Amino acid sequence: MESKEKIEKMVADWLKMVEELMKESGLPIVPDPKTSDPVWVDVRELRLRYLIPVKRIRKFFEGLAEGKLYVTKCPAKNIYYFPPQADCPACMDENIVWDEISGNGKLLTYTVVNVKPYSFAHHSNYVIAIARMSEGFNILSWMSVDDLSKIHVGMDVKLVVKRREPEGFFTYYLEPA
Ligand SMILES: [Zn+2]
Repeated sequence: MESKEKIEKMVADWLKMVEELMKESGLPIVPDPKTSDPVWVDVRELRLRYLIPVKRIRKFFEGLAEGKLYVTKCPAKNIYYFPPQADCPACMDENIVWDEISGNGKLLTYTVVNVKPYSFAHHSNYVIAIARMSEGFNILSWMSVDDLSKIHVGMDVKLVVKRREPEGFFTYYLEPA
């Protein structure tokens, strides 16, 4: 069973228990699964989905759709921002420029995520990596690799645009070069 389905089942089982206990006591108060301390289970279920304004960094997403990787750069401080920022946090200036990057880099470090947050539970174990780009800045990205034994710190990597499946949107991944 997929881990997301496992979590759904666990929550459904727990809510069923809450319902049964409430029938007896008339109160939605149940023992906390970890501490056994009494907790009130609110009847409202909240759903959360982030909406992120991208108007000023739209070029980045338009680039992804064309298979290109754009960064912003502060010409005054010579600092790159990836993902791009519309304002330079170093000099509080909106005088940034756009640059296309090669995607070439070296792997600095990585970790394999085996215990996934619920919203990523439908993915297989995945690699998150930090790489040093040839332009001289670091990026954090998922790394796609078919065999974990092929990854080692210091290897050549390439940042590429791919669709993230099963969601289907364009994003960036590191790959062995
Ligand atoms: Zn700046």
